[in-house]
Amino acid sequence: MIVFLLADGMRTDVLEWLMRQRRLPNLEALVREGGMCTATSTFPTTTGPAHLPFITGRFAGECEIPGIRWVDKSRGWFSRTYVNLLANGKMDRDLSAEVETIFQLAPSACIFSHITRGARLKVPPFGHFFSHALNTWLEFDSLGMRLTRICCTRGYGLVFTLLSAIDELSHRYGCRSRQALSAYELLDRWVGRLRRYLLASGVEHELIIASDHGMSSTSVHIDLVRHVRRMGFRTGSYPISLRKGEVFVAESGNSMAHLYFRDTSRAPEAAERLCRLEGIDLVLLRGDGEIEVRRGGELAYVSSKGGRYRYEASSGDPLHLQEFSGRWLGEDAWHAATLETPYPDSVVQIAQIFRSRRCGDVVVTAACGYDLRTLEIPEHRASHGSLRREHMLVPVLCSSPLKVRRTTEIYEHMRRVLRA
Ligand SMILES: [Zn+2]
Ligand SMILES: [Zn+2]
Repeated sequence: MIVFLLADGMRTDVLEWLMRQRRLPNLEALVREGGMCTATSTFPTTTGPAHLPFITGRFAGECEIPGIRWVDKSRGWFSRTYVNLLANGKMDRDLSAEVETIFQLAPSACIFSHITRGARLKVPPFGHFFSHALNTWLEFDSLGMRLTRICCTRGYGLVFTLLSAIDELSHRYGCRSRQALSAYELLDRWVGRLRRYLLASGVEHELIIASDHGMSSTSVHIDLVRHVRRMGFRTGSYPISLRKGEVFVAESGNSMAHLYFRDTSRAPEAAERLCRLEGIDLVLLRGDGEIEVRRGGELAYVSSKGGRYRYEASSGDPLHLQEFSGRWLGEDAWHAATLETPYPDSVVQIAQIFRSRRCGDVVVTAACGYDLRTLEIPEHRASHGSLRREHMLVPVLCSSPLKVRRTTEIYEHMRRVLRA
């Protein structure tokens, strides 16, 4: 059987730093036994969309869940947010019908996962709402691990558990705050208990622990909605102004946002102005058969055709890929070409999100140290969602040797194990 622990928001550097201080003995033992590697996530690097590669083997845009808030213009500007108490079950409904989930391949138990299609046991994450209000994230993760332990001896082929404390406490107090670090240590203790229990029970298992995205510290919150309004657009957004206006702004993880235009002929003008704003990093614009990539005054184009992708630098080199400019390459070649740049897997990830009919006409990401939303209670001290390497790179730990480049490959691995 497989036990998959999704340690939401866990960062490789923090994990390694704690290991060097010998504060995570059980995770260290796991790494000695199997191994650890770093993989790239999917864009947007946000809870929910970034869980999809593990569960479906596909990127977020290909699953038609391109954010935690989105608009579907083809359905009369239908808008969706997963950030409320009533969101349970909605991702299962929104997920493309043709997408197969890992839970359909073996009897599965889903503990607190937002996506559960095909699972036999579904324990909904209702406690998230209470934990948000009462700050009981550590207690909630402990409950998740207790349920995981119980499920491991009940004949399931896969037990999939979402642990939220690292992400939530990093948002609230900072990535390296005492509170966030205590969530890493709690994970370590529970992994030790779980493995001792499984060993004593004689349950043959593979344990995989992975994160959906990294995080970075945020000190300045720019109000993207207000900036778009100042450009002269009547603007709608969650949660206050649900009237769609001329432009609807839908943020994800607070470092990324979709912008949907009534009149798409006005999107290029807005994109040009957006990339001059302080705190904005990349501005992506849906063009005619290609995607415009802007960063400050720099401009390039991304296009895709039949499984191959091209990056073409026009003025400057926004994605730091000058030497590959103009070449048509496959997904693996682009992964290798982009891995050491500030935007790992950028070319493939930009193409995949715009494949979704629910993607904005313009997508923006925040620069390092900034995010795009002022209205967040409590205030966020860390954010994610962008294509930057601090958000895109995630740790993967496994009790058996496992080397993956993208988080989608974890799905492929689990599928092979479950079918063996
Ligand atoms: Zn997350
Ligand atoms: Zn988060």
